[in-house]
Amino acid sequence: MKNFTLKLSAAMVMGAALLGGTAAAQSYPERPVNMVVPFSAGGPTDTVARSLAEAMRPTLGETVVVENKGGAGGTIGVSHVARSKPDGHTILLMHIGFSTAQSLYKNPGYSSDSFEPIGLVLDVPMTIIARSDFPANNINELVDYIKQNPDKVSLANAGIGAASHLCGTMFASALGVDLLTIPYKGTGPAMNDLLGKQVDLLCDQTTNTTQHIKAGTVKAYAVTSPQRVATLPDLPTMQESGFEGFEVGIWHGMWAPKGTPKEALDKLQSALKAGLADKAFQDRMAGLGATLLPERANPEALAAHVDQQVPQWAELFKKAGVEAQ
Ligand code: ASP
Repeated sequence: MKNFTLKLSAAMVMGAALLGGTAAAQSYPERPVNMVVPFSAGGPTDTVARSLAEAMRPTLGETVVVENKGGAGGTIGVSHVARSKPDGHTILLMHIGFSTAQSLYKNPGYSSDSFEPIGLVLDVPMTIIARSDFPANNINELVDYIKQNPDKVSLANAGIGAASHLCGTMFASALGVDLLTIPYKGTGPAMNDLLGKQVDLLCDQTTNTTQHIKAGTVKAYAVTSPQRVATLPDLPTMQESGFEGFEVGIWHGMWAPKGTPKEALDKLQSALKAGLADKAFQDRMAGLGATLLPERANPEALAAHVDQQVPQWAELFKKAGVEAQ
């Protein structure tokens, strides 16, 4: 009898432990997950985030809600996530600006150490485009026009540290001109003003420009990838257009605030992997000129990439005489 009682209670303890284990494993997520995009709605980062949020939902078993927090080249949204409760219910989708802003701002409000990396997501080229009635019809005409009328041309961007700022600055400095820049909280609203002909030029990801280039509602001059993009085969690369070494790829990554529990990070990483394997997401992104990075959709790859990118950009800005503000 005694033996039976002991056995029974041991089984009960094991059962409770198992139940407890199951309950813990299923405790995350407890509610919808907020995916912060540090730019306005309707832009390229937002487009990637909204598609990815949908593709991650089945694995998480909860909705992923995209929250747009634009401003200051993305640093407002990124630092908001750095300060958010680290419980896995707030995550960040950001691009190359995560690295560049760390040298362009004296106090960006975060550092790489403020985050737990989840993984790399995708890489996307940029395009140089203009309002549909802009006088230049190809890259050579664009270069001539800008050189002759530098103070007549306005260039939109998403603030210092944004990809559009980076690409626009590289372009202007390659031409040796200073252009009037107009900052927005994201290139979604910048594109609206370009379509409305209130601003002249924009350098933006193909995830935002492809549909407008194809529809002919903007003029496109070149793409910043080393090879032409399959979805925009008529668009020359910057290198082909005489801009040697002009190459910008906008990598995107996903992070959670420092201190997020491992259980949540593991689940988020599985959801990211599953999202990248989702056919609808793959098709949508391929149509917009993006290259998915499934082999690097893990914390180690993102951490290593950021550790390489932050000093590389710091060095490049230093050489170019760009000072942090
Ligand atoms: N991709 C844009 C940039 O960094 C911002 C955005 O996604 O709206 O310039």
